[in-house]
Amino acid sequence: MSLMIDRLAIIGVGLIGGSLARALREAGSVRSVVGIGRSRANLDEALSLGICDEVTQDARRGVEGADVVFISVPVCAIPAVVEEIAPALAPGCIVTDGGSVKAAIVRECEAFTPAGCHFVGGHPIAGTEHSGAAASFAKLYSGKRCILTPTERTDTAALSKVDLLWRLTGADVCFMEPEHHDRIFAEISHLPHMAAYALVHAVGSADVEGENVLSYTAGGFRDFTRIASSDPVMWRDIALMNREALLSSIDGFSASLAELRRKIDRADQTGLTEFFTIAKQFRDGIL
Ligand code: NAP
Repeated sequence: MSLMIDRLAIIGVGLIGGSLARALREAGSVRSVVGIGRSRANLDEALSLGICDEVTQDARRGVEGADVVFISVPVCAIPAVVEEIAPALAPGCIVTDGGSVKAAIVRECEAFTPAGCHFVGGHPIAGTEHSGAAASFAKLYSGKRCILTPTERTDTAALSKVDLLWRLTGADVCFMEPEHHDRIFAEISHLPHMAAYALVHAVGSADVEGENVLSYTAGGFRDFTRIASSDPVMWRDIALMNREALLSSIDGFSASLAELRRKIDRADQTGLTEFFTIAKQFRDGIL
């Protein structure tokens, strides 16, 4: 497997963008990396950690001469970034992203990508609850899945190049339609984050005779709610951009919670055992 990117521009040098740059550097697949972002502090950190060779807050200047541009900012900002950089892209440039929602991003970014350049939607299924350049690491994608979401407009050579780029990070690449991606991730990723946020919200505001109940939490609560420490702006954007699919997932979850509530209310021993057994079987079936 060999791929040489002359100039890789990373817009949003955080956990996802920084880790991609580090992994491609470690694979010896990139000559130079330019980091683009808003805050000087994060860019300086990316520079001092050796993630980037140069940094700029000027996105148009940063993408000049890049053969690959990777966008890893919160999802609602991704189409506007493509619109902004479009006039500065070099002919043949491949623009790709790591956003957690795909249908709206792919539709809008394809429309903003100028003729002669190519957009390929992507979503690495890897992450932590930490943010920023300092949270990134080269092995983040190793052994993890990366989903690419081509459409009938996707250039096949550009798709092959992005496919190879992700495989060089150690990821297993698969392809999916953008809308299908959004329905699946509404269930397995976006809903669990909403449930964790809602649970911590409810427990954190619970009033039990004026006690701070969170001070009594132990392993189970901490395991279940780790993802509620994720970046609020990132999850605000995901909730809004995958709104329809997420609302339908939340409705399914609400129905499940209501069913559980009914069984508890009726002291339905058999029903509760059955409910928990089915859930345990699903959970134990996850590899
Ligand atoms: P992150 O660590 O917070 O990094 C995002 C970067 O984008 C920051 O460096 C931030 O720096 C910059 N940024 C934020 N808003 C911006 C804007 N409006 N315009 C330009 N730059 C902006 O977040 P992340 O975890 O890497 O997530 C980035 C993307 O990857 C998101 O689209 C997310 O959906 C996706 N993703 C995340 C995970 C995960 O588990 N974290 C997994 C898969 C995919 P400045 O504030 O200095 O500009």
